Amino acid sequence: MNEFKRIVVKIGSNVLARADGTLDITRISALVDQITSLHASGIEVIMVTSGAVASGRSEMKGLVSRHLDSVSQRQLYSAVGQAKLINRYYEFFRDHGIVCGQILTTKENFATRESYLNQKHCMDVMLNQGVIPVINENDTISVTELMFTDNDELSGLIASMMDAQALIILSNIDGVFDGNPADSASRLIPEISATSRIKAESFVQPQKSSFGRGGMATKYAVSRKLANEGIAVFIANGKRDDILLDVLSGRREVPFTLFKPSSHPVSGVKKWIAHSEDFAKGEIHINECVYKVLLSPSPVSLLPVGVTKVVGDFEKGDIVRIIAPDGSPIGVGRAAVDSRHAAEVAGQQGGKPIIHYNYLYMD
Ligand code: GLU
Repeated sequence: MNEFKRIVVKIGSNVLARADGTLDITRISALVDQITSLHASGIEVIMVTSGAVASGRSEMKGLVSRHLDSVSQRQLYSAVGQAKLINRYYEFFRDHGIVCGQILTTKENFATRESYLNQKHCMDVMLNQGVIPVINENDTISVTELMFTDNDELSGLIASMMDAQALIILSNIDGVFDGNPADSASRLIPEISATSRIKAESFVQPQKSSFGRGGMATKYAVSRKLANEGIAVFIANGKRDDILLDVLSGRREVPFTLFKPSSHPVSGVKKWIAHSEDFAKGEIHINECVYKVLLSPSPVSLLPVGVTKVVGDFEKGDIVRIIAPDGSPIGVGRAAVDSRHAAEVAGQQGGKPIIHYNYLYMD
């Protein structure tokens, strides 16, 4: 437990909601108790919590006109439910003499380096003052395609941005199974290495959980990415008593899946780039030869000679996707030149890098 100085705990809607959709107050209180002991032992804890929509829906049951479309419902439920949720956390932490604060964010707040650093600064200030950040997506305004896939994705971004050493994703399932978890022949996978190239589709079940938006497929993708950046990720069952304390003390008789972190740490700016794929303004297609070189562990910049095609309109400093010869996206980088210049020099020997290795992240 002592090896982690800063952790992110993500609590899924299914952990917090009872079968009838109402908030499970006993569970929230028990989780706050555990976070309080971690806090007391000197670990900085950042919480990412779902449950706003589920809680608002149960609160408004029978009160909402039948004609409300799904977007309006989500906005309404999250506005009501978030108020209720944060109140619960606030009161429970206050009983322990701990202050928590609320941060509601959207995907767009991660789009520019400036807003990214602003959010980071806010959380740093809170942690320095002993305040526990309680984060959720601002579901009242994030209703476009630029929404987080789910809070698993958001928690990954936060863990990476805040240089946490561990992320614990709590849902209502014990971890990653080698088959359908409902099937008694399926076994829990206790450990997955950052470099493992297991085809996730072979064991990750696509079904979503009943109250939240997330599913095991996003949990798996987020966990692998983070483990690659050097962050340990645990997927565990938040409905089990004392799960946070058990996971962090490495009690293996309790089921959970650990994604072992890679030992090659990734710099702050690269972490931001790694999670900025959705904001890419263009694509740089590369040839087979440079593809192989980029996959090697040594730092290599992407030079004009390896570029076969430039797609899209981007400025110097924009995020671009790197595309392999077979058409698959294999990385992200911050362009050192604009798209016009990149297209002009594509395929030429010499010249300055299209993407410098400090700003290049390979998946
Ligand atoms: N932000 C949503 C909520 O608080 C949950 C998103 C998710 O299920 O991951 O209800």
